Amino acid sequence: MRLNIPYTDHRELEEIAKVLQTGYFTQGPKVVEFEKMLAAYVGARYAFATSSCTTALHLALAAWGVGPGDEVLVADFTFPATANVVVQLGAVPVMVDICLDTFTMDPADLERRITPRSKVILPVHAFGCSADMDPILEIAKRHNLAVLEDAACAIGTTYKGRFCGAMGTMGAYSFHPRKVITTGEGGMITTDDSDLAERIQLLRSHGGKRTGYWFEYEEAGYNYRLSDILGAMGVAQMEKLDWLIERKRALAGELRQRMAHIPGVQLPVEPAWGGHIYQSFVTLLDDSLDRDRMVADLRAMDIESTLGTYAMHDQPIFQRLFGYRSGDLPNSHRAFRQSLTLPLYPQMEERDLDQLAAGLAQVVAAQRSKGRKNEDLS
Ligand SMILES: *Cc1c(COP(=O)(O)O)cnc(C)c1O
Repeated sequence: MRLNIPYTDHRELEEIAKVLQTGYFTQGPKVVEFEKMLAAYVGARYAFATSSCTTALHLALAAWGVGPGDEVLVADFTFPATANVVVQLGAVPVMVDICLDTFTMDPADLERRITPRSKVILPVHAFGCSADMDPILEIAKRHNLAVLEDAACAIGTTYKGRFCGAMGTMGAYSFHPRKVITTGEGGMITTDDSDLAERIQLLRSHGGKRTGYWFEYEEAGYNYRLSDILGAMGVAQMEKLDWLIERKRALAGELRQRMAHIPGVQLPVEPAWGGHIYQSFVTLLDDSLDRDRMVADLRAMDIESTLGTYAMHDQPIFQRLFGYRSGDLPNSHRAFRQSLTLPLYPQMEERDLDQLAAGLAQVVAAQRSKGRKNEDLS
């Protein structure tokens, strides 16, 4: 059983075929259509497709003017791209600890880490669950900071009814195959700010501004565009988004019921602010359970699983550059060690859910009985 299988049907092929027939494959009308669909869906004024969420995050920070001397407050428990792009711009990522129920940025820890050099807050909507945005936005306002939402895993996630990626200054989405909808590789930036929108557009395509037939190059920009072939795939995927979310939420509910009795396993928490879309079904294990061994044991039963994600402060790159030591951010450190992502994808059937729950119960029971034996011996 795989961790995730992207969902596609004839619509992706139909849309891609239209692009192939035009003979124009780079950024074009399908990308524009995809951008309009996403902007309308989340309620943002502007949306700009990019080659990935990593390039979206990099471009968003560059457009905001982040550079040497600046600090960006990053949720510590995330995929490394979130913090890498800060380093690439010559700025300093200041890691912020998380809350262990939602795996998202702890607003109290955020407040403590703000300095006169702080420029942007970068919360992550982890695994399809929104960060607690009201206090984060309030802190940003009080300190005059921009907010870039890493909504890589959270297209369609809501916070008190508002869409993730459309609450802060900017939002960044991913269409990697592990995410809710996919174009193979791809990303998107949203914003309501027209000046920022202009800068994002300029920097996305080499820094060139059109003047008559040609361009004038005002900045050392990037090529972070999305191909129209992938834009076409995005259009077909957007049509399925509501259905995919409904399906994932229903499957997560079924898994929750089947796993409620398994000791030592904290199931994903539905936050008070609602709107969890279960991009991934991420559990947190008691310290009595050996996560890495569970991944191996599940694999032996043909069930794929993996860690939740990474603690930035535990990675050699950030320890070397910024002096972090393992465990400095205790909640993120614990989540990095003890989180376990289980399979959840729309094609799952009843028997898959049964097999998964039974498999998990079995490996947990085996570890716990072994643990008790070890206690008896000591
Ligand atoms: C997947 C992911 C990214 C990177 O997305 P890509 O589209 O693969 O570049 C960034 N942040 C988070 C939280 C992610 O999960």
